[in-house]
Amino acid sequence: MTSLSDLPLRDSLRGREPYGAPQLHVPIALNVNENTHPLSEGVIEDIVSSVQAAAKTINRYPDREFTTLRQALASYLGHGLAENQIWAANGSNEILQQMFQAFGGPGRKALGFRPTYSMYSIIASGTDTAYLDADRGERFELTPELVSAAIREHRPDIVLLCSPNNPTGTPLSLDCMKAAYEAAEGMVVVDEAYAEFSSADSAISLLPGRPRLVISRTMSKAFAFAGARVGYLAADPAVVDAMRLVRLPYHLSAFTQAAAEAALRHSAVLLGAVDDIRKQRDRLLVELKKLGFDPYASDANFVLFGGVSDPEKTFTELLARGVLVRNVGLPNTLRVTAGTEAETTSFLAALAELQAN
Ligand SMILES: *Cc1c(COP(=O)(O)O)cnc(C)c1O
Repeated sequence: MTSLSDLPLRDSLRGREPYGAPQLHVPIALNVNENTHPLSEGVIEDIVSSVQAAAKTINRYPDREFTTLRQALASYLGHGLAENQIWAANGSNEILQQMFQAFGGPGRKALGFRPTYSMYSIIASGTDTAYLDADRGERFELTPELVSAAIREHRPDIVLLCSPNNPTGTPLSLDCMKAAYEAAEGMVVVDEAYAEFSSADSAISLLPGRPRLVISRTMSKAFAFAGARVGYLAADPAVVDAMRLVRLPYHLSAFTQAAAEAALRHSAVLLGAVDDIRKQRDRLLVELKKLGFDPYASDANFVLFGGVSDPEKTFTELLARGVLVRNVGLPNTLRVTAGTEAETTSFLAALAELQAN
C-alpha cells in the first residue's frame, strides 16, 4: 500500500493535517455552526424549480460572471453596493483561497490572531503562503493597539480578521478594523461568516476609500445554505478584477447560481430563524454559567465554554448521548452551536447529567 509520504508531495505539505471536523450521524449535531432550523417548504420548492429550469441549458457553460447572482448579493448586502463590488465562489473558503492565490503565495505571508479559524493556515499552506499567528488579549479580545502592533511587526501581505471570531465567538470593533487597515500595507480581510448573528456593525461601512479592504461572507451559516457551497465578498471593483485572474473559468455551476438566486429571493424567510438562534445562544451563555462553566462572550451562533476539566471525555460522553459538539483543541474548552430550542435543551440536559455524575 502506498502511503502519502511515499509520494513526491510538495515539501510545504509534508506532515500537514487536512481539515477534519468529524462528520457523524447523530440526532443532535451542534459541531460545525450550521443553521439547524428546518427549511421552509416554499423555499425548497423554489430552489428545486429553479435548478430544474437551469437543467434545460446544462449542456452549455454557465454565466462565468454570475451577474444575476452578484446583483442579488449586492442588493441583499445593501450599503449602496454595486454588482461590480461583489464576487462569489463555492463557499467563502474558496473566496479566501482565491484571495491567497492573488495576494499571497511563495515569499508572501498572512497574519491571523490565534485562536482563530483553522482554515486560514490550511489555505496558506495550500498556496505556499507563510502563516503567522499573533496572540489575542484577555479572553480572546482584540484591541486596535494589539492589532496594529502585530501588523507593524510582521508586515503581512494579508491580514485575517474574523468577526465575530471562530472558535471563540469574540466580537470585533470597527476601530480594530480601521487600525488594522491603517497599519497594513497589504490586504485586510474581514471574515464575517457570522455577521447576521452579530449586533455589531459590518465592516462593509468602511469600504469607501479603502481599496485593500475585503469583507468575506457566506450563505453557509445564517442562510441555512451550507450544503450548496456559496460564499462571497464585497470589496473595491479592482479586488474583483484580481479574483478573475485566479478563479477557474465557470467555477460557479449553473445549479449553484440558480439555487443561490432562489435562496436570495427568500432571504427574509431563510434568515427568519436568526432571532431564535440568537436567543438560544444567549440562553447557552446563561445556562452554561449556571452549570459552573465559563462561557466566552459570543456574537455568533455558537459558544465556546471553558471550565471543562477533560474536553475529550466530555465530548465522548455527550456523543454517547447523541449530542455532537466540537473540541477545537483549546485547553479545558468545548464549542457548541446554538441549535433549535429543543436541541439546545437536549444539549444542556445531557451536560447537566454529566455534571451530576
Ligand atoms: C464556517 C466558516 C466559514 C464558511 O465557510 P464556507 O466555505 O462558506 O462554508 C468561513 N469563515 C469562518 C470563520 C467560518 O467559521
